[in-house]
Amino acid sequence: MNVLWIHRLTCCGNTHSFLNYEHLDKLFEKIKLLYHPSLSLNDEREVVENILSGKLDLDVLIVEGAVYEDDLEIKRLCETAKVVIALGSCASYGNVPALLNSRVCGLQYRFKNKGGLLGADFLSSSGKPVINLSGCPAHPDWIATILLSIYNDENIDLDQWNRPKIFYSTLAHWGCTRNEYFEWKVEAERLGSKKGCLFYYFGCRGPLTYSSCNKILWNSVSSKTRVGTPCFGCTEFDFPRVGLFETKQFANIPAELPIGVSKRGYIMLSGIAKVFAPERLKIED
Ligand code: SF4
Repeated sequence: MNVLWIHRLTCCGNTHSFLNYEHLDKLFEKIKLLYHPSLSLNDEREVVENILSGKLDLDVLIVEGAVYEDDLEIKRLCETAKVVIALGSCASYGNVPALLNSRVCGLQYRFKNKGGLLGADFLSSSGKPVINLSGCPAHPDWIATILLSIYNDENIDLDQWNRPKIFYSTLAHWGCTRNEYFEWKVEAERLGSKKGCLFYYFGCRGPLTYSSCNKILWNSVSSKTRVGTPCFGCTEFDFPRVGLFETKQFANIPAELPIGVSKRGYIMLSGIAKVFAPERLKIED
């Protein structure tokens, strides 16, 4: 399976993430990387020209980084590829580069608006919309699993933001070791603390963010919330937000509540939970 990896406006974080994939050797038995900006010694121009002139087949195009809305080369490559992957939140929704420049966008979105460089109705030559592997960066297992699914010709169900449901249908809150603190409304007293939840004061977006990273962990070892840093919600279209380490509150209630929780229910339950929280959870850190 021929794969072309192209960089645009990016910090290359997804490349670094990908290099942490534990079974790269096995993956490279199945895919042929025609070109990667950090890993290849051959000439990008030559590869691109060979693809666009029809001399080389392109099975999968991976774009890492946000794009300018008039990037014709990326547009032509996307039209040629059988499957297009927007890798990372910049390529998916625009992210930081799009915040700084109104002419910059993701491949098929600009933040929550569908369209982007390719337009809302774009389908690749095999009839698929752009697959968004959002995240800042995307988890290496997500990249590898999707490449293998394409290789095996498996169906990839996407959610309303064109992300594979297999990774983006559960919240980052699921699998967090601080869930009990969350339920009893016991907040961490400082960043880096081993105890307490980070939702009420420290801006944790776990209950508002679809991502499997707290279940599969990073390098199979850890996650942001496990080391006492809030989830920043980096897989969502509205990333990044101002004030990543604080929770906006109105009258002592978080301005944004966990997905599916009503304000009334939250006020009732959180008040009771706080009063009856088990002593063992209140131990000082
Ligand atoms: S730290 Fe974040 S992810 Fe963990 S329980 Fe609290 S709100 Fe949920």
